[in-house]
Amino acid sequence: MSNLTLGDLSITGLTDIKSFTIPAKTLFPDFNDSLVKSLEPSEQLIVSKGLINLTIRSWLLRQSGQNILIDTCVGAEKNRPNHPHWHRRDGIEWLAALDKEGLKPEDIDIVMCTHLHADHVGWNTKLENGSWVPTFKNAQYVCGRHEYNYWSATYKETDKHGAYEDSVLPIVQKGQMQFVDDGWELAKGLEAQLSPGHTPGHLCLKSNKGALFCGDVIHSPLQLSFPELSSAFCENPILARKTREKILTETSDSDSYLIPAHFADPGWTKIKKVGSRYKQIV
Ligand SMILES: [Zn+2]
Repeated sequence: MSNLTLGDLSITGLTDIKSFTIPAKTLFPDFNDSLVKSLEPSEQLIVSKGLINLTIRSWLLRQSGQNILIDTCVGAEKNRPNHPHWHRRDGIEWLAALDKEGLKPEDIDIVMCTHLHADHVGWNTKLENGSWVPTFKNAQYVCGRHEYNYWSATYKETDKHGAYEDSVLPIVQKGQMQFVDDGWELAKGLEAQLSPGHTPGHLCLKSNKGALFCGDVIHSPLQLSFPELSSAFCENPILARKTREKILTETSDSDSYLIPAHFADPGWTKIKKVGSRYKQIV
């Protein structure tokens, strides 16, 4: 896995699911085939036979002797009957990727959840003697206060994968989850930014070294060309669009790396605004 170094900040992707496809029309309800025709030939590959490729990965940040994880993917052994590829899988690749970096789960100091969807909190917990326990026993976990309040009030009706009960609640019950607000400093030079829309309390993490870890503010490079496309999984598609356009413009203006959760390898990009679209320049 390639590594991005910005000053004393080292950034490495840990892949849980390298590639899966989803019909563009399923992922983006406002998608239509004519959009692809207006793309440049190289960009048309983003949608192949009507399908979009996504990756599911965590970001490992290392700076000043601290090991920080952003998002924890799908995880292992989780009951996900609505999602056969996630259902009771062994998830061994993700642990191997961590091991390859010379780290064990107990070496992780901080785990930040950009939001509480099932593909971002899975490795938060592992199955031990029939119970879900924190995978990262020495870590301080963090998530947005507003995000937690939303899911804790609605999970019985809204959490179709059941991730809240097996991957969030056990962390809270152990006293390992900290709830944070917009502007909270996760570590030196790393600041949480409230970015609502995909979920109500979604957080990005901004590095002052020139990177924005933006979770699910954007899912696919297709949304660089058509930032108006919100996903079917966005709780508030209109707000998600507004947040995305603001963040893409800021990232373009500041020449920062944009580092989402689901882009293909290497998983990061730099963008430049051209008219109403954004072009990848790295
Ligand atoms: Zn996601």
